[in-house]
Amino acid sequence: MQKVIAIDGPSASGKGTVAARVAAKLGWDYLDSGAIYRATALHVANQHIDFSNEDEIAQLAEHLPLRFQAGKILLADEDVSSTIRNEEVGMNASRIAAYAKVRAALLQRLRSFLTEKGLVADGRDIGSLIFPQAKLKIFLTASAQVRAERRAKQLNIACEGEAFERILNDIIARDKADASRPVAPLRQLPDAHLLDTSDLSIEESVQHILDLYQTVA
Ligand code: C5P
Repeated sequence: MQKVIAIDGPSASGKGTVAARVAAKLGWDYLDSGAIYRATALHVANQHIDFSNEDEIAQLAEHLPLRFQAGKILLADEDVSSTIRNEEVGMNASRIAAYAKVRAALLQRLRSFLTEKGLVADGRDIGSLIFPQAKLKIFLTASAQVRAERRAKQLNIACEGEAFERILNDIIARDKADASRPVAPLRQLPDAHLLDTSDLSIEESVQHILDLYQTVA
């Protein structure tokens, strides 16, 4: 068994916030694997590489000049922590994440985040492919409506109207893309605990995972 808590789930499910807090409570490291796919997608756009060119994108991913430093994400020494969060980058990340060669190029980089300290990692395939021997696997989700409302609040947008509908539709589209791709599709594994956070606060979700961890530790 690896000293890993794998938290997989759809976009905007809040898994990043929850995973980071679980890691802090345990004194473990935290890996936001989506940020690496997002940074790769941003790099592809910055380098004007065609998003349909799997081979070139895989090469780029292999040598991605990415560093995590003091809570910041640096791409070629530029702080891209907030740029990578926009929806366009998210959609592009989802596109390149469907390429088997890109996923293979990022595999070792993702695995290298595990040290003796322990690791809480979130993503889509953490429990299935990156750390299949994780001590605890969680499938963290919430309804698309609740996820869209959370995202809207983050962006200071009302939870109704055209802008909100766009957010909701983007979330549904990305869920569909991530779940239907042939390579590393998003799905709940048989050995993962389902955690639906639609009616849970962040703290309740964190506590739930810590309680589950106590049962396997
Ligand atoms: O989690 P986040 O929304 O930041 O991830 C962006 C995109 O990167 C996802 O829509 C997904 O397609 C991809 N991804 C992935 N595998 C991971 C993490 C993210 O395919 N482990």
